[in-house]
Amino acid sequence: MRLFTEEMRKEISIVTHRYPMRVSGYYLGLITDRGDPIYRQCIPAPEELEDVTGQPDPLHEGAHCPVARLYHRYPDRVLLLATNNCAVYCRFCTRKRNISEKSSSISDRELAGAVDYLRHHEEVHDVLISGGDPLTLPVERLEAIIRAIRALAHIDIIRIGTRIPCVDPVRIDESLCAMLKRYHPLYVNVQFNHPAEITPESKKACSMLADAGIQLGNQSVLLKGVNDSPEVMKELVRRLLAIRVKPYYLFLPDLVKGTGHFRTSLECGLEIIRSIQGFMSGMATPQLVIDLENGGGKVPLSPVNVVDRQGGRYTLRNFENVRYDYVDSPSCKARG
Ligand SMILES: *Cc1c(COP(=O)(O)O)cnc(C)c1O
Repeated sequence: MRLFTEEMRKEISIVTHRYPMRVSGYYLGLITDRGDPIYRQCIPAPEELEDVTGQPDPLHEGAHCPVARLYHRYPDRVLLLATNNCAVYCRFCTRKRNISEKSSSISDRELAGAVDYLRHHEEVHDVLISGGDPLTLPVERLEAIIRAIRALAHIDIIRIGTRIPCVDPVRIDESLCAMLKRYHPLYVNVQFNHPAEITPESKKACSMLADAGIQLGNQSVLLKGVNDSPEVMKELVRRLLAIRVKPYYLFLPDLVKGTGHFRTSLECGLEIIRSIQGFMSGMATPQLVIDLENGGGKVPLSPVNVVDRQGGRYTLRNFENVRYDYVDSPSCKARG
């Protein structure tokens, strides 16, 4: 298939002038049709320039950035942006504002600044290395970052957020896995948004990470025209578990300027969760989350299962929408 006509190339170049494009050869190869779920995620669309609703930084990350590249929004954990480089520039990126042709990664000085901050914040027990995509860094550089964080006794876990297993899986190799294995407890959160992204290659990448003892979670984004249906998401979560990845979050898209055409309703998200909960294992059910505008943070949302309550008598609905009474027991404290 010849993917792009001359006219399309022109249309795309108008968009890339403002929002750059990058797609790995592997991910491009997953496209089977114009406008298919892979295409929509990675090929620039004219709608990106028409979006007047979103903000460049709706999460107000800038307001919670005590030192360069480190975001401290929640009490016990921080986000470290190791690089702004990615293998694929997702068109719905939350940090679209940081994407530029020029890649920039954390410098030694910035790393020292972040570590120094963490040293003085013993309440932090969890460092999430993200970006950009930290797995685009050379293994030695990533190791230097992880080693510096691991040296702090109060940091329990290190997490890496990456799309590499999905968008460029051959980059997951023995040397990377052998390095990561030395820094447990380590978790990796990946991002698969559509069943078509689960291939023999991505399965192998996830296997290698899991064999290195790494717990794998998935953070999907609910995207119009990609995965905004119960059928697609049910297929995705089933296939994720089969490649040893536990669905973790399902995000409503952030209100980022240039991504408005991907927005779906909260009700659509709730409908998807209702279609999974109970019909499939609790293991398969991601937590639906909205990351609030103006830096409010993440809010987990669940379908309403308590349909009525009179004092200690609850009416609950099950996954089949049948109502049952539940009589609560007095709490330990109340019995005093
Ligand atoms: C999402 C996020 C985290 C991690 O949140 P979890 O709910 O623990 O996965 C940490 N810091 C910031 C700023 C975040 O946006």
